[in-house]
Amino acid sequence: MSNEKRGLQRFCEYRDRIQSFIDGISSSPEPNPVLLKFFGIILENDKKTIDCIENNKPLLSGWYGNAPEIFAAMDVHYFCAVDNILAHQPFTSDLEGMDASAVPSDMCGLIKLGVYGVEAGLVPVPTAMITMLEPCDAQSAIHEAWENTDAWKGVPTFILDPAYGNDKEDYVYFAGELKRMIAFLEDHLGRKMDYNKLREVVERTNEQYAAWAEYNELRRAIPCPHDSFVGSKLGWGATQHVTAGLPETTEMFKMLAYDAEQKVKQGIGALPKEKVRVLWADLVPTWADPLAAWLAEECGANIVMDFQGYTPYEHIDTSSVESMLLGLAKRNMAEVPMIRQARGTVDVMIEDITRIVRDYKCDCVFFPGHVGHKDQSASIAFIKEACRDLKIPLLILTVDNFDPRYTPFDVLKRQITEFFNAHGLL
Ligand code: SF4
Repeated sequence: MSNEKRGLQRFCEYRDRIQSFIDGISSSPEPNPVLLKFFGIILENDKKTIDCIENNKPLLSGWYGNAPEIFAAMDVHYFCAVDNILAHQPFTSDLEGMDASAVPSDMCGLIKLGVYGVEAGLVPVPTAMITMLEPCDAQSAIHEAWENTDAWKGVPTFILDPAYGNDKEDYVYFAGELKRMIAFLEDHLGRKMDYNKLREVVERTNEQYAAWAEYNELRRAIPCPHDSFVGSKLGWGATQHVTAGLPETTEMFKMLAYDAEQKVKQGIGALPKEKVRVLWADLVPTWADPLAAWLAEECGANIVMDFQGYTPYEHIDTSSVESMLLGLAKRNMAEVPMIRQARGTVDVMIEDITRIVRDYKCDCVFFPGHVGHKDQSASIAFIKEACRDLKIPLLILTVDNFDPRYTPFDVLKRQITEFFNAHGLL
């Protein structure tokens, strides 16, 4: 496979699959406008990636925690190497391919799939790469693995170094890192930073996150108007893995909130009889759909909030370059999911669990015990104590959020049913 066209076939498959989703929804008796908007955003993003591969345009490998607002302001298209691999997992044989790669089997599935994806040529060769060294050690490992593949060897790389704490000095340090990243991008991609454009992008992402927060407020209602994970799945993809600051993303959240609001006003819940309200204290797994369907149908349970959808993004002050960079530093170091709960001390995770349980009137907490989150598993004693203080039952599982085979679904179902029964929740 020539390096120039690596990833092309796979991205064309993504594009065609998303188009078929859009066609299917459009031709249904009652097309869901929110899903049409969401898949439209994803489709356009895949098309942009294909255009970059086919026409040798600058293309960046990055992550959601790397201030993608900056990429958008510099008119640089970026992809996250694992995003589509995870999103399309039910339709591919990537898990089997991943098994054959030389990554320790007890590592996070995201990392294993990321290593496999680059080795197998499922993603393009980027013009440059921005690494994310947080929140876990495995993030460093994935970049080293990529740099050691033949195809990605020599790709210019910028290492964004995060601070450990959550004080102003930590954000000032990371804002400096963002400045150095901008200089790197100008050098290697031939694009100039336009701070007026950055202001426009940040103002739009401010608006997106405000709309997402409004939607989340509506999920507090009893009964919850929408199914498990709904805002988290759509919002994560539409804010973090496409060009930052698209007006369509704000429109999508507003449509979602409008629909939820109508249901709340009429007292309509996603479940005919909502019995259990759950906090899923981690990212949304790739096997969320079957889990959500089983919880709804068999247990009357709704995961009303999770860490991927809990997005306490603060408004960024766009009055000056310094205030924008400082705001972006805080957003990307302390607010985006996964990084928010896993970088630094355990306090944030405990505070989030406490706040979500109270605000969303949860009946129990599921701690998935994701195989990669050894940091969080080391904090189980703190989580237990927090749940004891809240007088709320806690179910500790062991799963791989990105590999449904790690814990067979029947085992999961049995553990959850026993837990619900033991606590009189069914
Ligand atoms: S999901 Fe967790 S373990 Fe996996 S890469 Fe992200 S932080 Fe690391």
